[in-house]
Amino acid sequence: MRTKKAASSFEVLEKMSREERRKYLDERLKWLVAYAYEKAPATRARFDKAGIKPSAVSGIKDLENLPLLRKDELVDLYKNNPPLGGLVTVPIGDLERVYVSPGPIYDPHHQSEGFWQRLVSLVKSLGFGKGDVVINTWSYHLVPAGHMVDEAMRRAGITVIPMGVGNTELQVQVMHQLKVTGFFGTTGFFMNIINKAEEMGFDVRKDFNLKLACIGGEMGGGQIRKLVEEKYGIATRDAYGTADVGFMAYECSERNGMHIAEEVIVEIISYETGKPVGPGEVGEVVVTPIDEIYPLIRFATGDLAGWIEEPCPCGRSALRITRLLGRVGDAVRTRGMFIHPRQLEPAMVKFPQVAQYQAVVTRPGHRDELTLKVELKGEEGVDKEKLAQELNKVVSDAVRIKVDRVEFVAKGVIPELHKLIVDERVY
Ligand SMILES: [Zn+2]
Repeated sequence: MRTKKAASSFEVLEKMSREERRKYLDERLKWLVAYAYEKAPATRARFDKAGIKPSAVSGIKDLENLPLLRKDELVDLYKNNPPLGGLVTVPIGDLERVYVSPGPIYDPHHQSEGFWQRLVSLVKSLGFGKGDVVINTWSYHLVPAGHMVDEAMRRAGITVIPMGVGNTELQVQVMHQLKVTGFFGTTGFFMNIINKAEEMGFDVRKDFNLKLACIGGEMGGGQIRKLVEEKYGIATRDAYGTADVGFMAYECSERNGMHIAEEVIVEIISYETGKPVGPGEVGEVVVTPIDEIYPLIRFATGDLAGWIEEPCPCGRSALRITRLLGRVGDAVRTRGMFIHPRQLEPAMVKFPQVAQYQAVVTRPGHRDELTLKVELKGEEGVDKEKLAQELNKVVSDAVRIKVDRVEFVAKGVIPELHKLIVDERVY
C-alpha cells in the first residue's frame, strides 16, 4: 500500500471548517488503520484479538470500538517482540535514532513528512519564527524531547542552541552574549535560570532579549507564568506532548486552551465509562497521531483534560483542549464512583476561610467512608457546625457521593504539599 501524503499545506488545514477538518481526519484515520494493520504486526495482532477488521473503521466515530493502548502494554510489547515491539512500520536499520524512554519503551526518530510538518507548524504557531535564537533545554539524552524540538525549530528556520538541562550559570551567560530571544523547556528550569541571572546581577528585562518562553510539560504553573509575563515582560506559551507521540497540542497567542496539532486525532474519554466526555467534563486524553512510521492507535496518555467548545478568536479551526488537569491515577474510586481532585478544587475555593483540606477515604467495615479534613485559617468568629454543614453539602454535590464527616484539624496535620485525596483503605 502506498503512503498517503499529508495535506501539502497546514495553513490550508488551519482555516478548514470543523466539518471539513473532521472529514479530512476521517479519511486520514481510515488510511492509517489499514496501513498500520498491514505494516505493524503488533497492531494487526491487537485488532485480530479484538475481532475488528480495519474496514470497520471508516472514521473518528469508530475509534471508541477499538482497544486503548496503554503504557504498560507498550512496555510488554517492546519486551516480548524485539527490537521494536512490532509497532514500527519500518525496520530498525531505517531509523535515524532510537530513543530510550522509561520502561524501556523505544521511540523511533524518523523522517515521516506528516510528523515533521506537524511539529514545524506547531513551533510556528507557538510564536517562534525565522530570526529567533532559541535555547533548547529539553534533554538530548535517551528521551526524544531535545532532538525533537531541535529538529522542528531548525526546519522552521530558527537558530537553536542545544543546551539541555543543567549548567545554569553557563545558560545565563549564553542567553546574554548570544542575545537569545526564546526558551524551550520546563517551567521549573526556566525559573532556575532567571533566578540565577538575578543572582549574577543581571536585570532580566534590560540585559536580555528574551521575548518568548515555551514552558510546557508541567501541570499548572499559572502563577509562575503570570510572574514571568508581568515582572520580566516575557510572553509564555504552553505545549503538550508525550515521548511516544511527540508534541500534539499548543497554545496560540490567545493563550486560552491548547489547539490540537494537525495530523493528530484526540479523544477525551470518561475514566468511568470509556465513552467520549461531554462539554464541561474532564476525561483522559487518548491520542491517535497520523504517523506512518510509528502509528500508535488510541494511545491512552493517562493525562486529564476537557474540551473548549467555543471557536478561537485566532481563527484556527483546530479544536482546543484545556490545560492538563492531572493524571488519571489521581482519582480514587469510592463507593463505585471516581473522585478526582479536579472535582474537589472548584468546590473548596468557595470557602476562603479554609487554609488546607484533604479528602480521606477509609474502610472501617464493609463500606467506604469519605472524610473531609479541614484546617481553618483562624477560628475566630467561625460557626464550625454551620460551616461543616455547608462544606458537606457543597463537596458532596461536587464529588457526587455523600461526605460522611467533616473534621476540623489543627495546623500541621495536613502537610504543606499533599495529595488532595488519599486512599487509606486496608482490605
Ligand atoms: Zn487560537
